[in-house]
Parts: sequence; C-alpha cells; structure tokens
Amino acid sequence: MPELPEVETTRRGIAPHIQGRLITELIVRNSQLRWPVPFDLAQRVQGQRVKEVTRRAKYLFLHLDSGSIIIHLGMSGSLSLVQDTEPAGKHDHLELHFEQDIRLRYTDPRRFGCWLWTEDTRQHPLLAHLGPEPLEAEFNAEYLYQKARKRRQAVKPFIMDNSVVVGVGNIYATEALFLSGIDPRRPAHSLSERECQDLVGHIRQVLAQAIEQGGTTLRDFIGGDGRPGYFQQQLQVYGRSGQTCPRCHGLLTQVRLGQRTSVYCPECQH
Ligand SMILES: [Zn+2]
Repeated sequence: MPELPEVETTRRGIAPHIQGRLITELIVRNSQLRWPVPFDLAQRVQGQRVKEVTRRAKYLFLHLDSGSIIIHLGMSGSLSLVQDTEPAGKHDHLELHFEQDIRLRYTDPRRFGCWLWTEDTRQHPLLAHLGPEPLEAEFNAEYLYQKARKRRQAVKPFIMDNSVVVGVGNIYATEALFLSGIDPRRPAHSLSERECQDLVGHIRQVLAQAIEQGGTTLRDFIGGDGRPGYFQQQLQVYGRSGQTCPRCHGLLTQVRLGQRTSVYCPECQH
C-alpha cells in the first residue's frame, strides 16, 4: 500500500511537470474506483490550469482555478507521466492530458483509490477530521502528550489513528516505537512527556528518511513503468519477527494490536 512517503514522492515527481500547465482532456476509462469518479469531472477540469500540487495525509490535490481534484492511491494506485505512444493497459483507469503532450496516468489494479472533486479542501468530509501532519510543527511532544493522556488504547494503534496524526502506517509506527524503546501494547495514557518527545522525534525521523530515499526514485517518473516503487528501506524490526534484535540480539516477537501485526523486542521495549 502506498504510504505517506510514497505519496509525497509522487507529489514531488509529478509537480514540476504539471504545475502551470493547461489540461486539455481527462479520459476516464473506468469510473468504478472506491467511490465513482464524478460523471462531470472531465467536463469540469478541461481547459483549466494546474496551479499547484499539494498533499494532505495520503491525499494529493491538483489545485485548479475553480476547485481541486482529490486523488488517493488506495491500496495499489500509482501515478506516472507517460509518453503519448504508450498504450493504456487494463488497469490504467484515468489519464489527464496536458498541453505539449504531457500525460498523467492513473493505474490501480485493485481500484481502492479515488479521484474526486471539491471546491474547498478543508471542508471536504474525507479531510475535515484529519490530525496534524507528522512533519509539521503542530505535531509535537506537548500535543501528543495531551492527546495520549485521555486514551486507554494501546500506543501503537493510537499513533496510527489519523485523527491523532496522519500518515503513520504500520511500518513507521513499528519502527518508531522500537527506536523509542516503547512497548507497542502499553496504554497511550501511560506515556510520559519524555517518551512523547522521543516518539515524535522518531516518527519524524523514519518518515523523513523514507521520503529522502524516495527522492532517488524520482528520475523514473518519465518512461519505463514510471512508478515510485516501495522503498528499499532499512527496517530494524518491521517484518522481522523471530529474527534477532539489532540492538540486544534477543528474539523479536509479534503481537496483534488493532487488527495489525506488531513486531517488537521484549528486551528493548518497555
Ligand atoms: Zn532488543
């Protein structure tokens, strides 16, 4: 599933090629995504210019003069810039054409993504209740501590809750808790201010590293399959249950929390 770093990498990859450009046409080959593509989307966007490409949580926005296209990549979606000679495959559901033969193609085998339209990105029901961005100043130790104080939920699903902070997927939550030495099963309200500070720092660190690594895939945006793949990140504990802990050489173990598998080290995480 594309996580926040992949979505941010996608934004950085496409923005320089489409910002300021005029949309000549939107082709919708299959409108049956997670929510149907609005029937009038093609008509709305034609002839408008992309002013800016931004991201909020895992949503991308193409801001036009009269509103914004909201794109979510779902479980398997990707955006790529293609040449006009590349034929569309069966999972290439939408294609945005720009002046000067630039084409932005949306590919999504499982069709859990979306393309929607809004005139106000802050008021949209999908976006109105999102917590702060993990890499912005609003997400800090004091904020997390105040949120955590009232919650009995285990700390791992707590930090993966989009109303607390957006974009902390299973990989990043698992890694950040390991780096902070915090047991993922602990109730959120048991976190000290110091631990909140550690956790905020490590969440930022793992996400920033992933975004940095994603930058190396940017050259692939034009030509080839054009997608930012899953990053070859150096993960310490995620996906390594039964292997040795990189810190103490004890065995990593796994537990299910909030329907997700969590790997942790019983020696290093308390
Ligand atoms: Zn350990």
